[in-house]
Amino acid sequence: MYDNLLEKVPTDLWIGGKWRKASDGQRFDVIDPATEGVIASVASASVDDAKAAVDAASDALAGWGAKKPRERAEILRKAFELIMRDAERFAKLITLENGKALVDSRAEVAYAAEFFRWYAEEAVRNLGQMSIAPSSGARILAQHKPAGVAVLVTPWNFPAAMATRKIGPALAAGCTVVLKPASDTPLTMLALMPALEEAGVPPGVCNVIPSRSSGKVVSAMLHDPRVRVVSFTGSTEVGRKLLHEAADNVVKPAMELGGNAPFIVFEDADIDAAIDGAMIAKMRNMGEACTAANRFYVQEKVHAEFSKKLTDRMAGLKMGNGLTEGVALGPLVNKEGRDKVRELVEDAVKKGARILTGGKQPEGKGYFYPATVLDNVSNDALMMNDEIFGPVAAIQTFKTEDEVIKRSNDTEYGLVAYLYTKDLTRGMRVSEKLDFGMIGLNRGVVSDPAAPFGGTKQSGIGREGGHEGMMEFLETQYISVSW
Ligand code: NAP
Repeated sequence: MYDNLLEKVPTDLWIGGKWRKASDGQRFDVIDPATEGVIASVASASVDDAKAAVDAASDALAGWGAKKPRERAEILRKAFELIMRDAERFAKLITLENGKALVDSRAEVAYAAEFFRWYAEEAVRNLGQMSIAPSSGARILAQHKPAGVAVLVTPWNFPAAMATRKIGPALAAGCTVVLKPASDTPLTMLALMPALEEAGVPPGVCNVIPSRSSGKVVSAMLHDPRVRVVSFTGSTEVGRKLLHEAADNVVKPAMELGGNAPFIVFEDADIDAAIDGAMIAKMRNMGEACTAANRFYVQEKVHAEFSKKLTDRMAGLKMGNGLTEGVALGPLVNKEGRDKVRELVEDAVKKGARILTGGKQPEGKGYFYPATVLDNVSNDALMMNDEIFGPVAAIQTFKTEDEVIKRSNDTEYGLVAYLYTKDLTRGMRVSEKLDFGMIGLNRGVVSDPAAPFGGTKQSGIGREGGHEGMMEFLETQYISVSW
C-alpha cells in the first residue's frame, strides 16, 4: 500500500533547488499512526544545513524580489493548479503520515492549494499610499517592500495547509523562505517541492529542511542577521520561546498559537444547524485543530436536545485507518497526543463528568481514540483550560448571556469562538464582547484563505490569510518627497 504512494516522495533536504543528505548524515523515521509502522526515513537537517538553506534563500532574494508581481502571481497560480492536478496523491500522503481520514485530507489539500490561488491574486495588489504632510506640504509616499528571508515553522496537524498559508503570502510579497516542517509529518512538504519547481519557483526561493533538532536549527536561523521574519504555527509554549529568540535580532514575528474555543448554543438557536456546526467545529481533523471547539456551553432549555443529538452523531462516526473510504475518524497523530486525550477524559470523569458516548481507548495497534461526548464537565477539569486536541466534546450548561460571555473569555487563549442564535442582534452583540480574533456566528468553520486568521491574547500575533497575511512579509518604506 505504501510503496506505490511513497514511490516519488523525496526524503532528503531541499536546499537551493537540489536534494541533499544532512551534512552529518542523520535521518529519522516517519511513523504511520494507524499501524505504528515506519513509512519513511527522512534526512534530519543540522545547524550547518540550516545555514546552507539561509545562504540559498539569501542568494535568491534579490532576483525573486525584483521579479514583476505578475510573474510571481503566475507562478503561484500554476502551483495551485499543479496541487489540484495531484490532489488525491497529496491527500493520501497526508493521511498516511498524519492519520486523519481521507475526507479530511482532501479538504485540507483544497484549502492548502487555495492559499496559492488567493496569493497569486494578492501579489498584484501590493498597494501603497500617498498623502501630503499637513505642516510641511512634502509628499508622504509609503510603499511595501519584501521583508527579506523568512523562516517558517509549521505543525503536524495540517501538514500542507499550515505551510502553504505561509509560503503563498511570503512568495507573493517577494520574500524567500526556509521551511521547517513538523517531524511527525515532513513528507507532504517534501512532496510539494517538485510541484513548486515545475510551477517555476526558482532555486533557493523555497527551501525545506526537516529536522529532529528543531530547537537548535531554528535558533541558529533566528540568530542569522539575514533572516528578517519568523512565521510560526504551533503551541503557545514553543511560540513563546521563539519570540524570545526573535528578540535577539529583532526579527519580525508572526505567531499562530494554541486555542481553547468555546461553542455557545443559545436557546433560540436552530439546533440542527448547531449540531452540523458542532460536528465540523469539533471533528474537523478529528479535533486536532487549533480552531477545534473545546468547550460546549449550551443554554439550559436546549441542553437535553443538543446533547442527545450530538451524542447520536458522534456515536455514528466510523473509526479506522484513515486511508479506508467511509472512515470518518482516523488515529491521532502519535502516542503522546492519544495518551493526553485519554488522560484528559479520565481527569474529567474523576471530577464528575458523565460519558454519553466513547471514552474508552481501544486495544491494539494505532493511536486511536473514539469520538467522545462528556456532559456535566466541571470547571476544574483540565480539559476546560487546556486544548484537548482530540475527538472529545465537553458540555456544560449556562443560564444567561452575560454569564456565558464571562466564562468564554475566562481563558488565556483568544483564537476563535463559535455561537449559535437565530437572533442576529444578539449574535453581533455577543460576538463583539467575545475576546477572540475570530468568531463563527452560526458557522462551525471560520478558516478561509481570503480571511484574516489569527488570535488575541496568547493565541498569537499577526494574521494569516486575506490581505493581512501578505503584510506579515512586507516592510513599509516611507519616502518623504519634495517636488
Ligand atoms: P509544537 O510542538 O509547538 O511544534 C510546532 C513546530 O515547532 C514543529 O515544527 C516543531 O518541530 C517545532 N518546534 C518544536 N520545538 C521547537 C523549538 N524549541 N524551537 C523551534 N521549533 C520547535 O506544536 P505541534 O504539537 O506540532 O502542533 C500543535 C499546536 O499547534 C497546538 O497547540 C495548536 O493549537 C497549534 N496550532 C495553531 C494554529 C493556529 O493557526 N493558531 C494552527 C494549527 C496548530 P518538531 O516537530 O520537530 O518538534
